[in-house]
Amino acid sequence: MRMKDVYSKRITSEEEQSGYVLILKDRLPFFPMQGRRFQMLQNGRSRRAMVESYACSCRGPQLPHSHYFFRVKGLKSGDRVTVRKDSKTGTRYLLQVQNHPRRSV
Ligand SMILES: [Zn+2]
Repeated sequence: MRMKDVYSKRITSEEEQSGYVLILKDRLPFFPMQGRRFQMLQNGRSRRAMVESYACSCRGPQLPHSHYFFRVKGLKSGDRVTVRKDSKTGTRYLLQVQNHPRRSV
């Protein structure tokens, strides 16, 4: 499987507290356009998901920009989230959450 077909990242404490998964800007084209609803399958259950964004100034007031994310409930810091495209239409995605080894014992 090519890297381009998968979006994977480890959950940070910020993401745990906010209940979302951040999308790195260069991987944004992997997901549907911001504000467009799509299907996300997790453990056989289908949910609606959507790419959202918030304004951020983490690079200083001279460099305002946006951060992109989609919401996922129950994430814990250290979990690994993997998203795969499920169909060629690009409207359905598979979400897999691997718990941090220390938490799954
Ligand atoms: Zn920022």
